[in-house]
Amino acid sequence: MPELPEVEVTRRGIEPHLVGRAISSVTVREPRLRWRVPRAVGALAGRQVRAVRRRGKYLLLDCGDGHLILHLGMSGSLRLVAAGSAPGKHDHFDLVVGEQVLRLRDPRRFGAVLWTTQPPEAHPLLRHLGIEPLSRALDGRRLHALTRASRVRIKPFLMDGRRVVGVGNIYASESLFLAGIDPRRAAGRLSAADCARLSAAIKRTLRTAIRAGGSSLRDFVGSDGAEGYFQRRAWVYDRAGQACRRCATTIRRMVQGQRATYFCPRCQR
Ligand SMILES: [Zn+2]
Repeated sequence: MPELPEVEVTRRGIEPHLVGRAISSVTVREPRLRWRVPRAVGALAGRQVRAVRRRGKYLLLDCGDGHLILHLGMSGSLRLVAAGSAPGKHDHFDLVVGEQVLRLRDPRRFGAVLWTTQPPEAHPLLRHLGIEPLSRALDGRRLHALTRASRVRIKPFLMDGRRVVGVGNIYASESLFLAGIDPRRAAGRLSAADCARLSAAIKRTLRTAIRAGGSSLRDFVGSDGAEGYFQRRAWVYDRAGQACRRCATTIRRMVQGQRATYFCPRCQR
């Protein structure tokens, strides 16, 4: 599943090819995605793309009088292809911009192509999203305030997108290792110093993954590749039974909220 780093890599990859350019045409081959693609999307020709932003795992194409909202769902990817390239079976949506086509491929059709003329942050899908982990809004103080009074364990707390967006399973495990925090600890019991280390670790982990995916920017654009590259260098994720890269203690696996958690019982307290 595309995670925040892959979506950010996608955003950086498509931005220079879209911003300032006019949409020539739009093709919707399959409107039955996670939600039905609205008819308004078919009438976007002539609008200029002003900006390509990201909120959580949603890409927002600012078209002046509205925003195209794109989500990659479980299996989606966006790539730029030359105008006139023959579509494949799962290529459900094309945004033609001059000589290039922004093409959505989504075999499982859990992705989304939506249009809103309201501020996108107010859209029902985006309204309840938590803070952006890579923004200045997330720091130790904010994380400390967010975790107060929470009895949830810190790992599932981090993965709850209503609190902080985009910290998926891999990134939560890796960040907790870097911060030296046991994933079983109650979020509300973390100290201010724990939260400072953890917010810094989250940013570092996500930035590392974005950099790893950034190498695929040229041919574009990585819902595949980035994650695999990152996993090979993981500190704890998917390393149960192997030696901790820091202290050689055996990495343990457990299940929290139906998700696998990996941690070093010595490095993480
Ligand atoms: Zn260790």
